[in-house]
This record gives sequence, structure tokens and C-alpha cells, in this order.
Amino acid sequence: MEHRAEIAVVGSGFGGALMAMVARQMGRTVVLIDRGTHPRFAIGESSTPLTNLFLQQLAEQFDLPQLLPFRRWGEWQREFPAIGCGLKRGFSFFHHNLGRDFSDDEKRQRQLLVAASPRDEVADTHWFRADFDQHLVGEAQRLGVEYFDRTELTAFCETTDAVTLRGEREGEPVEFRVGFVVDATGPRGCLFRLLGLAKRKLPSMPSTSGLFAHFRNVGVWPSAEGVPYPVENAAVHHVFNGGWVWVLKFNNGITSAGIAANETRAKSLRLGEGRAGWDCLLDQLPSLAKQFSGSTPVNDFVFARTLSYSTGDVVGRRWALLPSAVGFVDPLLSTGFPLTLLGIQRLAKLLSAWPSETELSAYRCKTLAELDQVSRLVGALYASMDDFELFTALTQLYFAAVSFSETAHRLAKPELAGSFLLCDRTAFGQATREICEAVVNGARRNEVLAKIAATIEPINVAGLADQAKRNWYPVDLDDLFGAAAKLDSTEAEIREMLLREQLL
Ligand SMILES: Cc1cc2nc3c(=O)[nH]c(=O)nc-3n(C[C@H](O)[C@H](O)[C@H](O)COP(=O)(O)OP(=O)(O)OC[C@H]3O[C@@H](n4cnc5c(N)ncnc54)[C@H](O)[C@@H]3O)c2cc1C
Repeated sequence: MEHRAEIAVVGSGFGGALMAMVARQMGRTVVLIDRGTHPRFAIGESSTPLTNLFLQQLAEQFDLPQLLPFRRWGEWQREFPAIGCGLKRGFSFFHHNLGRDFSDDEKRQRQLLVAASPRDEVADTHWFRADFDQHLVGEAQRLGVEYFDRTELTAFCETTDAVTLRGEREGEPVEFRVGFVVDATGPRGCLFRLLGLAKRKLPSMPSTSGLFAHFRNVGVWPSAEGVPYPVENAAVHHVFNGGWVWVLKFNNGITSAGIAANETRAKSLRLGEGRAGWDCLLDQLPSLAKQFSGSTPVNDFVFARTLSYSTGDVVGRRWALLPSAVGFVDPLLSTGFPLTLLGIQRLAKLLSAWPSETELSAYRCKTLAELDQVSRLVGALYASMDDFELFTALTQLYFAAVSFSETAHRLAKPELAGSFLLCDRTAFGQATREICEAVVNGARRNEVLAKIAATIEPINVAGLADQAKRNWYPVDLDDLFGAAAKLDSTEAEIREMLLREQLL
């Protein structure tokens, strides 16, 4: 069978499904190809304010109102209660000494709670990917995207006027003749293998492994009195020397949990042994062990020997990789979704006409620069997991950059935040790189702490790094009003934006 289309999107996770929907809305004929079927287990679940903003932008720019409910917890619950989802009011971090119960003092030096939204209605979400990705593929098909599941591609042949993808579907040969291919198959994916793309090293990032599963009957992690939001209604991070654990609760009784750890820690915890590794981890984290004491995994544990990955080959004349196929750093800071959505926005612009070499090359440079900036920051966070004060200070670089970017975009001033983590903003981007390199190279911590404070000050619109708050950061709109000038705005403009976006 030969199928013809202008664009082939390979990989039907949320990234590929959204890319296919957008291309279709641009009037292109599109085939969406996956080697698997839906619904299926997928990891990568936690959204952020920037993720949801980029999703909203896709919905608005490409006339896809059916995506809008997924940008917020409240709308999602009303419109699509059957699609699994978790409530994410912010980022909760707890610092553990291995072998001991978690405890903290009144200065709250071993925890960090950063609220991302003022109330549940407008909160972020965890996407239950089995449901969510399947729904999006259905939406893509409703728009006229031709979907081919269970299709294993085995050859990529490029000529001057087309690409032919060859493979097999249900034991029969299949062929797709298309003008352009977008690879949305994730790290070490389809084109990486078919084209023999080169691997490249991510800056400052240690080699890490992951072990994860979905669970039922996970208990409660207690919230102290006066917390900015119930700590479990968040992405919960348990950090310790050499690694960290995530716990994400969904509204369908399932909890996603897993660990990412450097080589030494992964080995000492025997993560490669799956269930035995998880038990070994819980032995070392007694407070978490209590929370998981009655739990049962609902799928096999997945061990990922090497989590981080990057290729430098991002584009060709007739193909491009989504950022999620270009590379992956770590689940820490939930950067996979926003990078994927930014990539879809950028590729959509390129595919509105025939992309020139210069445009493709600009896409490549931007994608790699953003991935590298994430890698530097996460690498520095790994290097400081035994020093929670430094770890907390480093996270403020992330929180300052993303809250500034979100507000700038919502104020319709995208020129203030043209890249993820503001990596191409001269002073902030460069200083972030220097700070992260200094941390990884063991620089003096007091100097680093002072430099972080100075670096975030010009973009701090969220009242971050305020010692008086003792590591609890609720959403306080006065911080935003007080920082209006940093966004080239007035208090009145900010108020109007908050009303327009229903955030007030
Ligand atoms: C442990 C872990 C935790 C993460 N947590 C987060 C998080 O909390 N927040 C966040 O923002 N990001 C997170 N990420 C990153 C996130 O998973 C990715 O950004 C996201 O899954 C990308 O979505 P996608 O649709 O592009 O690709 P994927 O979800 O990887 O989907 C790829 C699709 O391609 C198909 N496929 C693969 N190979 C082929 C092939 N050869 N031919 C045809 N089809 C193929 C697969 O069947 C699949 O359907 C995490 C990643 C990991 C590893």
C-alpha cells in the first residue's frame, strides 16, 4: 500500500498528535504513524504554567478550541472528567538524609514549596498519558489526519522532491510518500535509528538512571499547617544525595512514582533490579516507605539505564525532530512538555511555507541551546543534592525564568522571553551558564549564592528568594504588581491581563 501526504508525523504521543493537528489546521494533508497502539502506558506526566500557556497558544493560533479545557484543572474536570488527570498546584520539595525519617525545623530548611497557581480552578495538571494521548489521536483523526498504528518503519529514502518511508503494518509492506517528516518518537527514536544520527554529550549532566511505575493505594504525605497549598496537590519531589523521587497523584486512584539517580546512587540502590531496587530505595527513605506501605504497582517497573540523551542532528532538508526526539535531560523541573510544545509552535511556523535552510538551521540552534541550558541547570542541581540551601537557590533560577516568561507572554510581550529559561537573554542566560558551571566545578558556595541572588533580581516577578518566606512561596499578586516595571508594564496592564486570563 502506498499512502501520500504532504507531512508525515512519526510518533503519536501527545507531541506527535498535536503536531499532526496543527499541520492539518494549516491545510496540510497529514499521516500520523506509530509502531504501537493506544491506550498505552507512557511516562512524562507533569505540566507547568508555561506548558499550559503554550498549549493555550496552540489552541488559539490554530483554531483548536477543543484543546483549551486541558490548559487548567477546573475546565478539564468539567469538560473531560473521564480523561485521567492530577491536580498540580505547585512544586513541593523535601530533602532527606538516607536512612533517616524526614524531619524539618521551624526555619523550614529542608523543604521548598513553590505555588504555581492561586487556586484549584486555574491550576496545572498531571496528564494521565494513556487517556490523554489516546484522546488527542482521536481528535487528530477527527480533523482528517490519517492514522496508522502498529506500523514499524524500516527505511527512509529522500529524493529531490519527496521522502519515501517504508515499513510494515500487520505483516504487510506499507509505504508513505511525503514532502516532509516530523519525528515525534522520543529519544533514540525513529529517525535516530533510520538515519544513523550522532549522539552528543549534554553539558554538565551526570549519567543518570531511572526506575518508575504506577501504583494504587499510595498513602498521604502530610501537609503542615499554613502551607501555601496541600503539598500533595503538586509535583512532589523527595531529594537526597545523588538522586530524587517524584510522586504524582491522579484523580483515578493511580499514583505515578519513580526515582532518577546518578550512577553511584543507582548502583547502591540496585535500581537495575526493578521491584527489588524500589524496595531498597524505600528502606533508605523511611518516611516515604510509610506512604507506600499499602501500595501495589499496577504495571511492571520500568528501568531506564540511561535517562539523559541528545543528538546534534536535528533537521535535514525534508525532516525535523521535535525537541522531545532531539534529547531529554531529566524529569526534574518538568521541562519536557514545554520544550516539546515550543518545538511544535516553531515547526508550525516553518511548515507554513517550504522551510529554507536558514530557518531549519535556526530551529536546530534554538532547540539545542534550550536543551543545553536545561542540562546545565539540572546538572548543577544534581551536584548540589546534598546541600539543600544551594539546591533551593538554584531552583530559583528556574522559577524566576519561567514565571517571568509566563507573565511576559500573557502580557503579549513575547519579545521579553524569546527562549526557554531565557537562555538567549544576554545577562540572565550567560550568568545562569556561569553559575551552573561553577557549581559543577565545586566553586565556593557563598559566592555562588550571592551570584544567584543578583542574577534573578532583574527578572524576579514572583517574590522569590525571600528569606522571610522560609521556603514557602504562595502566589502573592502584590509581588507581581510590585515588579511591573521589570516587565515594561504598569500595574494597570498587569491587572487587566490577570482579569483577561481569569487569574484574578
Ligand atoms: C522518567 C521520565 C519522566 C518524565 N517526566 C516529565 C514531566 O513530569 N514533565 C515533563 O514535562 N516531561 C517529562 N518527561 C519528558 C516527557 O516524557 C517527554 O517530553 C514527552 O513524553 C514527549 O512526548 P512525545 O509525544 O513527543 O513523545 P513520547 O511520549 O515519547 O511518544 C513517542 C511515541 O512514538 C512512538 N514511537 C517510538 N518509536 C517509534 C518508531 N520507531 N516508529 C514509530 N513510532 C514510534 C511511541 O510508541 C510513542 O507513542 C519525562 C521523561 C521521563 C523519561
